Amino acid sequence: MVPVVWSVDTAKKLIALTFDDGPMPQWTPEVLTILAEERARATFFLIGENAQKNGGIIAGAREHEYANHTWAHVDLARLDYDEAYEALNKAHDAITQATGREPAVFRPPYGHLGGSSLRAAAEFGYATILWNLQMLESDYKSNPPGLVDYIAESSTPGTILLAHDTGPDDRLVAIRGLAEMIRRLKAQGFEFVTVSELLAEHSPAPRP
Ligand SMILES: [Zn+2]
Repeated sequence: MVPVVWSVDTAKKLIALTFDDGPMPQWTPEVLTILAEERARATFFLIGENAQKNGGIIAGAREHEYANHTWAHVDLARLDYDEAYEALNKAHDAITQATGREPAVFRPPYGHLGGSSLRAAAEFGYATILWNLQMLESDYKSNPPGLVDYIAESSTPGTILLAHDTGPDDRLVAIRGLAEMIRRLKAQGFEFVTVSELLAEHSPAPRP
């Protein structure tokens, strides 16, 4: 069985920062620059058609992981098996083409899962990656430093943090606070790893 993962049990202070829905001219390059300056690695859940159109944006950033977020950001829960398979398959090919590496994990748009999408994910050997913490941009629109505090204070070892590198302007609240979030978390001893690296760290829950 391929797992569905919200976070990873680990004693190590590891965190997987994830960005969904790119690559897009607005604001994938900014996010890549911040990650490079802060020496943090992340996982980008790419929309296949964006990877096909805008693959050049990510071509030079090989330190990150690139993962499958379907071809056109459909709600997989509404699709039958063949449609769900095709939504993953077209994206798998486009992402492989754009990055030179096959994606190893997948995230369903909106976090919506159905039996057919789990079965399709199993065909590719994908772990299905959700999240246990997310940027709450719209809640902190009038208080951006509050979002930095919230993320710095809510992250725990094994956290998978959901963010977006494109979308409505609200998303800038997180992107503008990103460097400070990374610095705060590093000061707490956190290391930024890719989702696949975090999955490899999985350790059984400590025995009492
Ligand atoms: Zn998405």
